[in-house]
Amino acid sequence: FLEVNNLAKRFPAPDGNDLTIFQDINFGFNKGEFVCIIGHSGCGKSTILNTLAGLEQATDGDIVMNGKEIKGPSLERGVVFQNYSLLPWLSTLHNVTFAVRARWPGWSKKQVREHSERYLNMVGLEHALQRKPSQLSGGMRQRVSIARAFATQPEMLLLDEPFGALDALTRGVIQDELIKIWEATHQTVFMITHDVDEALLLADRILLMSNGPNAKIAESVAVNLPRPRKRNTIFENRNY
Ligand code: ATP
Ligand code: MG
Repeated sequence: FLEVNNLAKRFPAPDGNDLTIFQDINFGFNKGEFVCIIGHSGCGKSTILNTLAGLEQATDGDIVMNGKEIKGPSLERGVVFQNYSLLPWLSTLHNVTFAVRARWPGWSKKQVREHSERYLNMVGLEHALQRKPSQLSGGMRQRVSIARAFATQPEMLLLDEPFGALDALTRGVIQDELIKIWEATHQTVFMITHDVDEALLLADRILLMSNGPNAKIAESVAVNLPRPRKRNTIFENRNY
């Protein structure tokens, strides 16, 4: 489904010595797989993700999805960043309907609204549909981002440390919601995380990236744990 071949990224430096972030990056994954990538800070994970998103240009190599080379951004790929990227002047509901309408321009207002609400329900936001992002907590904003990304049903979802800015309790709750929404949709996900436990909880496969300069994918580990996954926590099913 997706193939990354000999991907390399160099940044030009003022002194003429280009900075190589990574090279010879090769990996692939299947449709419907949940893939996590782990690696030291600065090794180039976000750069890879942004290249997959088409937001950044690789220096070398290519990315092929469904037999087609990825060149620029597209609605086939949905991205969730650590800092939410919601439109501040739109309500929770409209942040999602806006994206859904762009994805399926032919849909009726009612279709768009019902579809959007279904995804917002999955992340427990049915009570906050009319609130603006500034009236939401950080965790709630991240839930809107996740609902929005899944609602547009992209061929591949790209999540860059979506829980990085959240406290441990909120992260746990939203991890559960992400599991729920993923079990319901089985969308292809490529997610960056710093948290090994999180990768083991969510992923079918974990890519380990070595530390730069010239970082590489050091290993690709299959996670053979039963699904649906469950978090080990003493706080489970508590109303916190
Ligand atoms: P983190 O885990 O901290 O988010 P990361 O693995 O996502 O790190 P990237 O953000 O991909 O790392 O950055 C990889 C390297 O590329 C870093 O060393 C960074 O300093 C460098 N870098 C990123 N963007 C640029 C740029 N525009 N020009 C020069 N260097 C850059
Ligand atoms: Mg990063």
